[in-house]
Amino acid sequence: VSAAAAAAPILADLKSKCATPVPVLRRVADAMAADMRAGLAEDGGSDLKMILSYVDSLPTGNENGLFYALDLGGTNFRVLRVQLGGKEKRVVDNEFEQVSIPQELMYGTTEELFDFIASGLAKFVAKEKGLFHKPQEGKGEVGFTFSFPIKQTSIDSGILIKWTKGFAVSGTAGKDVASCLNEAMKRQGLDMRVSALVNDAVSTLAGARYWDDDVMVAVILGTGTNACYIERMDAIPKLENLAHKSGNTIINTEWGAFSSGLPLTKFDKDMDSESINPGEQIFEKTISGMYLGEIVRRVLLKMAQFSALFGDSIPDKLSTPFVLRTPDLSTMQQDNSDDLHTVGAILSDRTGVKSSSFGARKTVVEVCDTIAKRGGRLAGAGIVGILQKMEEDSSGLIFGKRTVVAMDGGLYEHYPQYRNYLKEAVAELIGLEASRNVVIEHTKDGSGIGAALLAAANSKYG
Ligand code: ADP
Repeated sequence: VSAAAAAAPILADLKSKCATPVPVLRRVADAMAADMRAGLAEDGGSDLKMILSYVDSLPTGNENGLFYALDLGGTNFRVLRVQLGGKEKRVVDNEFEQVSIPQELMYGTTEELFDFIASGLAKFVAKEKGLFHKPQEGKGEVGFTFSFPIKQTSIDSGILIKWTKGFAVSGTAGKDVASCLNEAMKRQGLDMRVSALVNDAVSTLAGARYWDDDVMVAVILGTGTNACYIERMDAIPKLENLAHKSGNTIINTEWGAFSSGLPLTKFDKDMDSESINPGEQIFEKTISGMYLGEIVRRVLLKMAQFSALFGDSIPDKLSTPFVLRTPDLSTMQQDNSDDLHTVGAILSDRTGVKSSSFGARKTVVEVCDTIAKRGGRLAGAGIVGILQKMEEDSSGLIFGKRTVVAMDGGLYEHYPQYRNYLKEAVAELIGLEASRNVVIEHTKDGSGIGAALLAAANSKYG
C-alpha cells in the first residue's frame, strides 16, 4: 500500500470528527446566543465576558476636525491622523505610520514601553502639515485601540488585566492604560489626551459604521479572534443599577473564550493541554490563525508516525510545535500545479520532510482543507448566533433587511477557502433568501479610522 492509502483511515476519522453539518452548526449558533444572554445577565455568567465598551455614541458622519489614533495590538503599533470634514466631505485626509516595537521593550517597564509609543506619536504629530488643521482649542484627542484584555471603567479608561501575545511588561497589570499613555504623552511634551480607549473589534465596528449605517456586528479573524455588536442598553440586565438605560452601546463579546458544542479532536485537546492557557480560549484555538497550522502539524505527525506518510524517518522539525503556520496552509491550498510542487516545498522548508509523494501531498492538502473548513464554518455559526440573538430581542432588526457584518484580520483577508466556508455556513444556517440580505464584508483599515472617529464622537471639546 502507498503511504497515502495507509493514512486514509486517519484522514477519514479526522474528517468525521471535524464534520460540521447543519445540526452541529445550529447547536453552536444556539449555544452562542444563549451564552451571550448569560454573559449579559451577570458578570461571570458564562464563558462570554460580554464586556461593556462604554461606546454609546456611534459615529454619525458629522464628526469634524483633526483626530489621532494609536493602535497597539501586537508587535507593531500604528499612529494615524485623520482630518474629518463632516457629512459632506467625510475623510478629508488621513495618514498613518507603522513602528515596530523593539523586542526588549516587550519585556521592559511600563514607562519604557509607553514612552516609546508616545515618542513615536510625538514624531508623527510634528509632521502635521497641509490639509491637517490643529484643533482651535483644547488638547489634541487620541483614540487608543488597545487589543489586550482590559477591564473597561469608562470610555476613556480601562485597567489592564494581563498582557498577552508575548508581552511581559512589568508594572502595567492593574493600571489604567489610558493614564499610562496620558502621562507618557505629557512627559513627551504632547498636549494630547486619550478620549476613547477601545479594542480592535470595537474600533472596526465604529469605523465600518461610519460608512454604512447597516453595520451591526464586527468580527476579527487574525492571530486571535473576537466579535462585537450593537446592543440595546435595556437588553443588558447586568447594567441594572445604572441610570443609563436608553439607546445603544457596543458589547465586546470576547467570543474567543466560547466553548460549547464544538466538534473537537484528540489533536485539539492535546494542543490545548500543552498550551500556556489550557482550558481557555477554546473557540479561538479552533478557528483562529494562531492555531490552524499547529493543528494540521499534529495531524501530519500522527500520519507520519502511524502510516509512514512521509517515509520511514520522521524529521525532528515535524515534531516541533508551531513550525507549520496558518499562512502555509493557505499557500498549500492555492497550489494548482500538476505535481503540487508548492506543497512539497512548504513541507520541506517548514517541516523538514525532504521528499513527499504526490499522494502524500494530496493528503496534506486534504488535512488543511478539513481544518480550515471546520474553522470557517464554526466562525460562520458564531456570527449567526450573534445575529440570531439580536433578532430574537428586536424582531425585524436583522432579518428581512440589509445587515452588514464587518470583517477584519489577516486570516479572513488572506485565506479564500476559509472565507468561503464561513460564508457558506452562514447561508446554510439562515437560508439562501435571508443570506442575500446579510452582507459579510472585509473592512479595509476600519479599525484605525474607527478609533479616531470614537475620539471625535467622545470629544471633550467638540
Ligand atoms: P493580528 O496579529 O493583530 O491578528 P492580522 O489581523 O494581520 O494581525 O492577522 C495576522 C494573522 O493572520 C497571522 O497570525 C496569521 O494567522 C493570519 N494570516 C496572515 N496571512 C495569512 C494567509 N496568507 N493565510 C492564512 N492566514 C493568514
